[in-house]
Amino acid sequence: MSASTLGKSIFFIGAGSMAEAIIKGLVTSAIIAPQQIYVTNQKNHDRLVELREKYGVELASSIQQGCELADVIVLAVKPWAIKDVTTELAAFLNNQQILISVAAGITTEIIETIIKQEIPVIRTMPNTSSAICESATGICKGKYVNAETLHIAEKIFETIGKVAVVEESQMDAVTGLSGSGPAYIYYLIEGMEKAGVEAGLSQEVSRELVVQTVYGAAKMLLETKAEPAILRQQVTSPNGTTAAGLQKLEDNQFHDILYAAVARAKERAGEIG
Ligand code: NAD
Repeated sequence: MSASTLGKSIFFIGAGSMAEAIIKGLVTSAIIAPQQIYVTNQKNHDRLVELREKYGVELASSIQQGCELADVIVLAVKPWAIKDVTTELAAFLNNQQILISVAAGITTEIIETIIKQEIPVIRTMPNTSSAICESATGICKGKYVNAETLHIAEKIFETIGKVAVVEESQMDAVTGLSGSGPAYIYYLIEGMEKAGVEAGLSQEVSRELVVQTVYGAAKMLLETKAEPAILRQQVTSPNGTTAAGLQKLEDNQFHDILYAAVARAKERAGEIG
């Protein structure tokens, strides 16, 4: 891809782990030149210098300066800081710009109400695998977002993984499923690893086998685009070992436990928002 693919400059407010993941994705995919990326951060100048050295991005001395230089502004601060940051930003925004938030639980309506202008606001929910450009990100649009603007946001987040465009009413579900999802998978892996040890393997061997099994199964689904149930049936001979193991999962309501976990995380996302 050429450096001008995105055709927009971007300003990050907040230089934490999420901002770094997106910057890394943008710079690695080369859809934007590092000199077109501006970053500001509160109180921690060393962090800004670190990002400049690592990725060649430009530093903005204030929200005003960054806002005056960029076409797209990314709110990458913690949810509790969104109100203050957006209030300060509102004075410098114009309606040719696009505002993207990665803050969990903060609706586009909350942001639109603070900025009091007809500016496109896009809300996103990446996950922690964005650090290795393998995020599963949900994005939704606010009141003033058109197809072209949404496409720009999709392009940005595709540099850190896969993107699903959803309705805002579905964002809590995204949070409960893919936002919290990596932790569920880590928990599953912890359990399988312990089960392997219990069954007689060393912890090291058990870990290696489990992680590769999860990775291989996910890759198989991605590459073949097959239904998970079909792949499962293909590896389950009647009366065989897999059938015996799966029966135990079913007897113990494995799927019901997953429904409950996602539903509770979704509910919790709504409470926080
Ligand atoms: P972080 O704490 O690593 O980074 C936040 C940064 O914002 C810090 O560097 C802080 O100094 C800076 N900051 C705070 N107030 C500021 C202000 N007024 N002006 C400028 N900078 C300010 O947090 P993070 O993990 O990067 O999370 C950022 C956002 O991303 C959060 O809203 C979170 O909900 C969202 N998010 C994070 C993840 C993840 O995996 N880390 C996943 C989904 C969503």
